Amino acid sequence: MQLNSLGFPRIGRLRELKFAVEKYWRGESSQAELVDIAKELREKHWRWQADSGVSLVPVGDFAYYDQVLTLTATLDVIPARHRGVNGIDLDTLFRVGRGRAPTGKDAPAAEMTKYFNTNYHYIVPELTETQQFGIGYEQIFEEVEEAQALGYQAKPVLLGPVSFLYLAKTVDSEFDKLSLLPQLLTAYSQILARFAAQGVEWVQLDEPILALELDTNWADAIATAYQALSSSEVSILLASYYGSIEHHHALVAALPVAGLHLDLVTAPEQLAPFVATLGATQVLSAGVINGRNVWAADLDNIAASIASVANDLKQRFWLAPSCSLLHSPVDLDVETKLAPELKLQLSFAKQKLTELSKLKLLLTEPSSSQSLEIVKECEARRTARAKAANKEVIERVAALSVDDYQRDDEFSVRQTAQRQKYKLPLLPMTTIGSFPQTPAIRGLRSRWRKGEITLENYNEQLRQVTRDTVERQLKLGIDVLVHGEAERNDMVEYFGEQLDGVGFTQFGWVQSYGSRCVKPPLIYGDVSRPSAMTVEWAEFAQSLTEKPVKGMLTGPVTILHWSFAREDISREQIATQIGLAIRDEVVDLQNAGIGIIQIDEPAFREGLPLKKSDWKHYLNWAVNAFKLSAAGVVNETQIHTHMCYSEFNETIAAIAAMDADVITIETSRSRMELLNAFEDFNYPNEIGPGVYDIHSPNTPSVDEIVALMEKAATKIDVQQLWINPDCGLKTRTWDEVEPALVNLVEATKLLRRKLS
Ligand code: GLN
Ligand code: ZN
Repeated sequence: MQLNSLGFPRIGRLRELKFAVEKYWRGESSQAELVDIAKELREKHWRWQADSGVSLVPVGDFAYYDQVLTLTATLDVIPARHRGVNGIDLDTLFRVGRGRAPTGKDAPAAEMTKYFNTNYHYIVPELTETQQFGIGYEQIFEEVEEAQALGYQAKPVLLGPVSFLYLAKTVDSEFDKLSLLPQLLTAYSQILARFAAQGVEWVQLDEPILALELDTNWADAIATAYQALSSSEVSILLASYYGSIEHHHALVAALPVAGLHLDLVTAPEQLAPFVATLGATQVLSAGVINGRNVWAADLDNIAASIASVANDLKQRFWLAPSCSLLHSPVDLDVETKLAPELKLQLSFAKQKLTELSKLKLLLTEPSSSQSLEIVKECEARRTARAKAANKEVIERVAALSVDDYQRDDEFSVRQTAQRQKYKLPLLPMTTIGSFPQTPAIRGLRSRWRKGEITLENYNEQLRQVTRDTVERQLKLGIDVLVHGEAERNDMVEYFGEQLDGVGFTQFGWVQSYGSRCVKPPLIYGDVSRPSAMTVEWAEFAQSLTEKPVKGMLTGPVTILHWSFAREDISREQIATQIGLAIRDEVVDLQNAGIGIIQIDEPAFREGLPLKKSDWKHYLNWAVNAFKLSAAGVVNETQIHTHMCYSEFNETIAAIAAMDADVITIETSRSRMELLNAFEDFNYPNEIGPGVYDIHSPNTPSVDEIVALMEKAATKIDVQQLWINPDCGLKTRTWDEVEPALVNLVEATKLLRRKLS
């Protein structure tokens, strides 16, 4: 039985790579210094893996910016605009990723998008119809050599050819990407031959698209590709992850590969069918430790579920995390402030390797004293979890009835009540919540966190900022105001810090893209709200004006999706618990005189499962969690929601089922692409398509705004429309925001005259 690692996080346990890269970008260090730090990190991470008993160290999981981008360079498909005079070098990669590098000419960065259903973003390869492939960049071969020189057996890890094509986009003309497969396979064969010449035995090729429901031409491409690559001298481990691939069973079982990796965390049920068809010499890598979460595994239960297969397959059975550990934080050992009962439940990338070796012990020497110790640990953890359960929350969830998910009356009745109460003009104008988080505000927060100023002083200064924000909105002539969110560092963290059952780490960073990392909260227990979270700020802002000030909350689906969530209960149950906590906050806001309340759900769409056949179930519980959070209020209280994207074509019915009185959405960059969704679907409630692209420093002109809204009015009754920016304004400066909002108000006035 071998231990297999599909990949390790590269950022370093203290984000050393991030800091080194950014220092280099700023021109404060040389490329040689950056390369040295990178080398040290690789060496350390390989050592950790080997020390835990991993026999083949993964190479190619390291990247200065993004591993898909490194592969794109290896395959020599870097666009001409990014290439330097010396062909492809490290600065070329930075130029592709972020549009600029310390040397060479700036050029627009390549597109970046989410890697499947993770929060990791890859750089989208650009392919032309006559694309040539070759070997254009040597990094991975150098790293193989580096690992070998340290005495390790290197296992190069690459995204497989079919997933690479699938994730790429076509440029210059529209064509079938699969027409490029034969040439691409030639390049992959050359790469494999180079590895073979280096003495590599195993190469891991990742084909995560296998977890998707593929059209036949893509499924056929998998067969073609692995047939073609089977003549290579290296052994190929075909890795799938993020979901079941059982729907491709016949296809995958027939592939001439030396080994197969299955994600048995998301889909344990696929083990038996694939074992049944495993070839006589094929290796099975069982992904049993969750590579995408932070919780210590129930090793005894896992061992029980795989013991017989492990016993049958012997040498051909490998133990692995479900996927690359890229998505989990690096090292729990550096956390010094966690409560011991929480720390006991955790396992980060480095600890997950130890879990693999413990699992191996449980399987090979089940009655050894060490194994008995491991079982005891697992039991202690379960006992602690059970003891920590919050009975009140559990009983409240169990007692929910259908009524709790419904507003008192249907939308038309509520709309009449709300119109009578607020008497808003045609095309009411509002913003999405946040106003500029100036350096002064961030400095203030950091001084408070360091204990340099008192909480009273901090709050007093924030009140000053809020007062200023309200005054500016009044002067601009906005109809529905916001308090500006100056007191919030982050829209999930702010709530997580005030909820019971949610914890935070000091160093639990995960790479999001490039040098950018996020530190998601940990939902470790039953979630509840010990006291009101936002009421004071909302009340304060409302006290400054007669106009309505919107209360501003983050919704249950978004809080869940942007956190590391416990695994002992379903995501649906967790969302319901958070939904109840938010519901209480909504009711408290209403009772404090806040009549318009926005519950943001920007991550609603991100939660969509990889397989379309699973969408219905997800949408059902996600919509319910939102409705639960929103339905505790009277008809007059107007519930808004906000989403930062506009591809609603396939989900518009679910969005409508959320039954928010008003939804504001991003649309300006896509020129009202959103409206396509309204061709066949009559959206019943009110809607504010964003008309100011807040991701750009540019000021939208009055004409542009008018044109966008007139376009919207052709598809949606003008009585249903609101005017607002695309998203929150916290990343912009007041110098950018004020002229933009002046134009928005100006355009609104014009439109009211034209359209009423
Ligand atoms: N209310 C939040 C803000 O304005 C919404 C942010 C978001 O949609 N991501 O900042
Ligand atoms: Zn947004």
